[in-house]
Amino acid sequence: MATYVHCGSLFTGTEDTARAGQLMVIDANGRIAYAGPTASAPKAAKGDTQLDYSEFFVMPGLQDVHTHLAYGNAKTEEDIDLYQPMEFRSIRGLFFAQKCLSAGFTSICSPGDAGQISLSVRNSINFGLFEGPRVTAAGRYLTTRQGLTDWYPTWIGVPDTSIGRLVTSRDESIEEIRVQAKNGVDCIKVAMDGVQRRPDGEFIAAFTQQEITDIVTESHRQGRKVVVHARGREATLYSARAGVDLIFHAYYLDRECIDAILQSGSAIGPTLTFPRNIVDFTRPTEPASLKGRIGDVQREYETACVNLRRAREAGIPMMTGTDSGFAVTPYGEWHAREIEIFVNDLGFTPAAALRAATSVTAGFMAKGESLGVLEAGRAADFIAVAGSPLEDVSILQDKSRIRHVHVGGKRISIPERGYDPRQVTDQAWTNWNDLYTQERVTELGILPARRSAAITTERNAS
Ligand SMILES: [Zn+2]
Repeated sequence: MATYVHCGSLFTGTEDTARAGQLMVIDANGRIAYAGPTASAPKAAKGDTQLDYSEFFVMPGLQDVHTHLAYGNAKTEEDIDLYQPMEFRSIRGLFFAQKCLSAGFTSICSPGDAGQISLSVRNSINFGLFEGPRVTAAGRYLTTRQGLTDWYPTWIGVPDTSIGRLVTSRDESIEEIRVQAKNGVDCIKVAMDGVQRRPDGEFIAAFTQQEITDIVTESHRQGRKVVVHARGREATLYSARAGVDLIFHAYYLDRECIDAILQSGSAIGPTLTFPRNIVDFTRPTEPASLKGRIGDVQREYETACVNLRRAREAGIPMMTGTDSGFAVTPYGEWHAREIEIFVNDLGFTPAAALRAATSVTAGFMAKGESLGVLEAGRAADFIAVAGSPLEDVSILQDKSRIRHVHVGGKRISIPERGYDPRQVTDQAWTNWNDLYTQERVTELGILPARRSAAITTERNAS
């Protein structure tokens, strides 16, 4: 039994345009048997299914290479690391993975999560227990002293429930890679940025050149790809020289980094949606504003766009990702914003941005060679969109326009279900955003008026 998809227009993910009068034929195993002009398509047999998508723009399912399934839309690092048991985080991750799929994202990579959460979500979907997107899973980030995810004071360390795994020697790194490979991760995540900076403001890489080279060599020997978090120049350079497969952020890359990346063949996942959302959405009363971080994020964003445009012009492949899983990047909401940012701020054409979000990003995904393009032999992961993203990529953020989502040929529809974030995520003990000194209280005009009113009322009553 085959399925015949009659497309209003078909964007295969390899070209600059979408074509009208196209038909896609999907075999019983969910693979594309034919994608091309209706006139030269194989004839349907009795019992084959016909899908009339003649009103829609049919394109490969979207892909987000940077969605942390276990974070739970976190407001704090403690939300990510501490407050929910691993078992609950896994179930929650599955629920949120389905939100990504509903938004048209048929493949996501979860690059760094506590325990074996992401790979459990991946397996539960792959084994057919639940509907969901294809998941490429990492385990805990390899981090070292002062690395990202080693963010608690030394007397607390890196708890077992944290997204980080502290490795303080070469041997510990190798051991952790082997453990994760045995557990079945698709890729190894490394926290390459340190939290310390030089006097000139440059981030100091957490791992040395030799250390990251050893990590990459062993990961590749184990058949695993390597993805690093590297905003800083030094972290980006060391990662490229070590031959990592994917570099997240790379905001401060320079010419030397670009040359090293071109040599290694690494890709960049800019993940600009996260800082963009921080700047656009954080309100003045929130801790990130009160601590004065928003201006820094805005400046970093501008620098990053200048540098990343140079990287794009040099021919470095770029993949779309959003750091979804934080309160400013809730699952299923902003994944397609990265595509718009690629167009508006990095100088991509709409077609190139759509390819970045499909065929290019597939290059990092598990079994990626079978994904990302609508052509014979590949998996039939596709979406039917009302309107043309080639004319306006921002329509992909409008969930009402994502009319149908197919994974492996199968049309999947996840019931829309709300949830209470206070139960699901918010466990951290932050109770106030302000400091209520007498001066501040007077400035706000909150206490004295109410209190004297209450006392007066009481006196009058007696
Ligand atoms: Zn991330």
